[in-house]
Amino acid sequence: MKWNIPSLEELEDVIWKCTACGNCKTAYDFGPPPFYGEICPAGVEYGFDGNMASKGKIAFARGILDGELEWTQDFVDAIYKCTVCGGCQNQCELDHKPFIPEIIEAMRRKAVADGVGPMPTQKVIAQSMRSFDNPYQGPRRVRTDWTRPFKKAKNPIKNIMKKDAPILYYVGCTGAFNLPVRNLPVATASIFQKLGLDFGILGENEICCGSTAMRLGDAEEFKRVAETNLKIFKDLHDNHGVETIITSCAGCYRAIKKDYSLLDEYEDLLDGIQIIHTTDFLFNYFKEGKMKFTKELPWKVTYHDPCHTGRHLISFDIDEDGSKQWKGSYLGKSEDNCLYDIPREMLKAIPGIDFREMERIGSNSYCCGGGGGVMTGYGDWAAKNAGLRIQEGLDTGAEQMISICPFCHYNLNEGSKRIQSNMKLYDLVELIDMAL
Ligand code: SF4
Ligand code: SF4
Repeated sequence: MKWNIPSLEELEDVIWKCTACGNCKTAYDFGPPPFYGEICPAGVEYGFDGNMASKGKIAFARGILDGELEWTQDFVDAIYKCTVCGGCQNQCELDHKPFIPEIIEAMRRKAVADGVGPMPTQKVIAQSMRSFDNPYQGPRRVRTDWTRPFKKAKNPIKNIMKKDAPILYYVGCTGAFNLPVRNLPVATASIFQKLGLDFGILGENEICCGSTAMRLGDAEEFKRVAETNLKIFKDLHDNHGVETIITSCAGCYRAIKKDYSLLDEYEDLLDGIQIIHTTDFLFNYFKEGKMKFTKELPWKVTYHDPCHTGRHLISFDIDEDGSKQWKGSYLGKSEDNCLYDIPREMLKAIPGIDFREMERIGSNSYCCGGGGGVMTGYGDWAAKNAGLRIQEGLDTGAEQMISICPFCHYNLNEGSKRIQSNMKLYDLVELIDMAL
């Protein structure tokens, strides 16, 4: 199969377009009310002007390409101190804007190819992927532990390899293996059952989407699981009637929608299959009047935008042939694929919800701090950063923070504990399940 994952060398032209202006330090919004706020978790923790944020990382990329920098442990450490949140990308307005996270990941791919990356603490992920097909060192049989309550209640969840269904619920490794967020798949399946949907799961046959491997620069491992998944999805469509794949994980969603599309055969393999995030799927149901809330939740809530269902799904318009401006110029962006309004509209539709908005939202959202391998590699920093986001939520008067990503959920929970706050974390599906 032919992948179009760019190497650092292939990105050389765009790497030289950063002017080191530093505009990517701050998120702006002209309002009303106008505001500005820090946007780079790496810059906040390690100093924006100390080469740890995007302009410094891009300078590192030049140094590698020029042969002026050689791998040292400190240098490798520096390129992994980034949540790949894309916050910097959203602020920059120069022609390399569409490629900024790609440049950071291409450096990581080079580090892995040269045998120096990822960081020792992150290597456990690569080993786990190879041994268990998931990043959590979880034995395959544990993947279905969350389904036990359904079995007990005599409402077992269908194994789609044994019984056909039009909907595959692709659970994701975090929901399946990470105990504090197991409520997520439970709530999702509970909603689907309440709505009478004909769905199934892959159970022990589900494997990781590859998102973590890709973020860490392990392109070979990513390709292995992505190709396997795409073949499974095609087989499910051709032989088991699957038309829709729903995932409640922001990382899986981003990987399948965006990373997998770097494969030449992507369109063919997913022909006839819709990939959709649970929030989007349920919102369509709600709009069609097929899902009605019957219970009230008198909660004061705020919403955290995950990077993977937000900024990472921005599409950029580039002047490919120079007919509009100049060849390779950045012309504009579209946020049409970003899940910004839908989760907020769903939340506000739940009776009793008192919704409070934080300042940094949408494409200016402040990353929880857990992405890009940071939660595994730099857990203390990840939780510290999450504490900053929790404080921002507390400042709105909210008592619950809602998200649509199990990774954010876990890390924000760690942040809440770290600052000893009473902020409780929930996934949107948990609230929907409670209100149905
Ligand atoms: S990435 Fe863009 S905004 Fe940031 S320093 Fe470079 S040119 Fe400026
Ligand atoms: S991707 Fe996020 S953490 Fe990394 S340099 Fe950009 S803003 Fe900072």
